Amino acid sequence: MKQQQTFRGFMFIILMLILLMLALRFPYARQAQTVTAQEFEQILGSGNVAEAVISPNPQTPSGYVTVTLANGQTVRQNVSDVKDAEQLLKDNSIDYSMEDVPQENTLLTVVMPFMLSIVVVVVIVTMMNRGAAGGGSNARMMNFGRSRAKLSRDSKVNFTNVAGLEEEKEELEEVVDFLKNPQKYTSVGARIPKGMLLVGPPGTGKTLLAKAVAGEAHVPFYSLSGSDFVEMFVGVGASRVRDLFKNATENAPCIIFIDEIDAIGRSRDSRMGGNDEREQTLNQLLSEMDGFDSSKGLLVLGATNRPEILDPALLRPGRFDRRVIVDKPDLKGRVNILKVHSKDVRLDETVDFEEIALATSGAVGADLANMMNEAAINAVKNGRQAVSQKDLFEAVELVLVGKEKKDRILSKEERRIVSYHEVGHALVTALQKDAEPVQKITIVPRTMGALGYVMQVPEEEKYLNTKKELEAMLVVSLAGRAAEELVFDTVTTGAANDIEQATRIARAMVTQYGMSDKVGLIHYGSDDDEVFIGRDLAHTKGYADQTAALIDGEVKNIIDESYAKAKELLQEHMNVLHRCAQLLIEKEKIGREEFESLFGENA
Ligand code: ADP
Ligand code: ZN
Repeated sequence: MKQQQTFRGFMFIILMLILLMLALRFPYARQAQTVTAQEFEQILGSGNVAEAVISPNPQTPSGYVTVTLANGQTVRQNVSDVKDAEQLLKDNSIDYSMEDVPQENTLLTVVMPFMLSIVVVVVIVTMMNRGAAGGGSNARMMNFGRSRAKLSRDSKVNFTNVAGLEEEKEELEEVVDFLKNPQKYTSVGARIPKGMLLVGPPGTGKTLLAKAVAGEAHVPFYSLSGSDFVEMFVGVGASRVRDLFKNATENAPCIIFIDEIDAIGRSRDSRMGGNDEREQTLNQLLSEMDGFDSSKGLLVLGATNRPEILDPALLRPGRFDRRVIVDKPDLKGRVNILKVHSKDVRLDETVDFEEIALATSGAVGADLANMMNEAAINAVKNGRQAVSQKDLFEAVELVLVGKEKKDRILSKEERRIVSYHEVGHALVTALQKDAEPVQKITIVPRTMGALGYVMQVPEEEKYLNTKKELEAMLVVSLAGRAAEELVFDTVTTGAANDIEQATRIARAMVTQYGMSDKVGLIHYGSDDDEVFIGRDLAHTKGYADQTAALIDGEVKNIIDESYAKAKELLQEHMNVLHRCAQLLIEKEKIGREEFESLFGENA
């Protein structure tokens, strides 16, 4: 099999070479038409000659004459003595030029195309092999159809590297045991699971978890992404799946990890129009899943963020019939993840992971790992030996809102507007007891789009929000715009994100949390529910237009009230608003203490 592929590879290369040579040679051969001496003289006498070039051969008196006619046609005539040709041209009073001869059959003309073709072929072959499994194996030439799985043996990752996913790890302990001693289970007649889905948002540690399972069980780990199977050519994906499973069964016990499995596993009955290639790939995957013998200890782990779009066939018993939900970490999870990633980092006594974890609600493991590293880099940059809490906070901002964009200079007027906008948010936050404390206000633009922002650190992690808290959030999110309107008597586009956020909260209050008396305790599917085009195309909202109008009306009421409240609060504290904004314009950043003292002495 392998030899055959090498052979095919060689044939392919030789074919390419021949084609290239032909392509390169042809223009030379067909450049000019050669005519007889008689015809040539006629042409010269005809008065139609636009240009003539004599090309003498270097060693002999011979050479050739190239004549371009008025109509663009070129004619070439070989001559035994270029002196005669010159005379002939002079006789016909034709201007001509002498040219150094392109030496036919010299090293250059023969070797250049050849070298060129080799370069081209090498480039093509490298491109085809890109991403192919490493290792000095033979037959790496034509592996379009070979799997691109990365194989790692002796994974150093184990469960201690995975923080905060205690139940998930427990669930996987069992699988580790399967992989270690499959016989123990088969001898009792227990059916060993073949496939498991790890479901969760990106960066939550699904890949890490899969690696840890391999590490714990001391088995090899094949990893690749669903999109690696997807190619332009029909049949390539399927053949890669076949190849992958063939390799894996030879190396069992082992784990196959397919990231983004939805790239191949997407439902087939969608109305988006068939995709033959993907369907074939999926069918191949299904038949491989059915085909392999799990008693050998082969386990397929798939990761996805969107299990709902997977083809139901993929989820049937004997395939990916188990699910592990890998959610975003909670407060304790975030503290633990920070701890894991600070193992090799020197921290000073100011560091308080709890506080960082509070400030990073919604961050995933990948974010936190990233923050730790950025904090360490920051410490080094500032010539310090250990990471401080301040480094960590800066890293939090870096990861959540992007780098400071020093080259993005706001105009004076813009700085004023942005300052009032941000202080508006901060002030209203401080004025409401159900809102989270202000950590920092800044108007340094960030790479991720914000012109300024207010950073808040909650005092504790919330799993439930009261209606009051939601209302407070609404007022805070609209306070930026309110400040703009009050102070400048005009509004800007800067509040777009705020408005979006406010609308989302208000709509959820009405349609999901039953917080509107007029609408009542009824759940209405929201527009944000992800609709997978194709399957749900015909699926309508499921309620009448009247109801929709009622909902929209309620949402608008809630937002209008919140906006009015924001304006009212700001108006009552206009003097603080001005002082804070003035300070922010000067300093670009205001920290928690500074803000609280300003706020305290005026409120
Ligand atoms: P996913 O596969 O879910 O997108 P990854 O496993 O690739 O996420 O996570 C990326 C990185 O984030 C990991 O290599 C690890 O450094 C860090 N990470 C994510 N989750 C955790 C966790 N629970 N514990 C420790 N580190 C984590
Ligand atoms: Zn805002």
